[in-house]
Amino acid sequence: NQLPQASNSRLVPDRDAVTVHGELTNCDQATLQQMLMAFHPWRKGPFDLFGLSVDTEWRSCLKWDRLAPHLEFRERRILDVGCGNGYYGWRMLQAGASLVLGFDPFLLFLMQFEAVRRYMPPGLPHYVLPLTDEDIPARLNLFDVTLSMGVLYHRTSPIDHLQSLWHSLRLGGTLVLETLIIESDELTNLMPQDRYAKMRNVWFIPSIPMLQLWLNRTGFRDVKVIDVTRTTPNEQRRTDWMTFESLADFLDPVDPDRTIEGHPGPIRVMITARKS
Ligand code: SAH
Repeated sequence: NQLPQASNSRLVPDRDAVTVHGELTNCDQATLQQMLMAFHPWRKGPFDLFGLSVDTEWRSCLKWDRLAPHLEFRERRILDVGCGNGYYGWRMLQAGASLVLGFDPFLLFLMQFEAVRRYMPPGLPHYVLPLTDEDIPARLNLFDVTLSMGVLYHRTSPIDHLQSLWHSLRLGGTLVLETLIIESDELTNLMPQDRYAKMRNVWFIPSIPMLQLWLNRTGFRDVKVIDVTRTTPNEQRRTDWMTFESLADFLDPVDPDRTIEGHPGPIRVMITARKS
């Protein structure tokens, strides 16, 4: 409620940053920045609010660029499971989605979403709810596209996660799955003894063949690997808007292809698959 009011807000298309321009009422950029820092750490973005650049830890625009050419968003109803502050939701809305619903259990990210939404033109069909994959009702059969990006390896049961995503989709609907993988042609999987890149909550890091098997077993067809990318400090790094440790602190300083624990460093796959 303390955030400044604004008028004539408009969403500016085709920018890496989710960009809202307009006029702030009785507030300069420095004050807005100070107020938005109440929501630190800003992880996913970037955003540009009235010319103030919110330079987030992740340059999520890079992941968006890896995804967007492969998917039709126009007139689609979309569920984004583990959406963070909703950065991709705004991008998908701008690409023509008719509805974007995000789920994320972390309330700070929901507050970031609401802070940004406050400055959006009214009535945009984009909502974020404090829910998880486990709240997806069985046989929901609703969404045209369901995304799970950066969530699977945090789940103790990846199969249950994929089944929940399956239930969210209509028949013929598209899953977008983005997750950590290990490089191997075998059906194999890394379960860290303890931490992975200092994260305590990493469970399953499959090879691509293993992930394809999981997808087939849970009822997905037309599994397509659309991208494989190593995560580097070009994409994830400490900024003024996220002042905690970041990727450079999680990698082996001598061999950046390894995590600080000696595991293979983070490589992410982006997959699409169809519910059949
Ligand atoms: N999808 C975004 C954010 C990934 S970070 C991206 O790809 O950039 C992972 C997010 O998943 C976090 O915001 C975390 O709060 C959320 N999360 C963790 N467990 C979850 C669960 N069981 N269901 C849905 N979201 C979850």
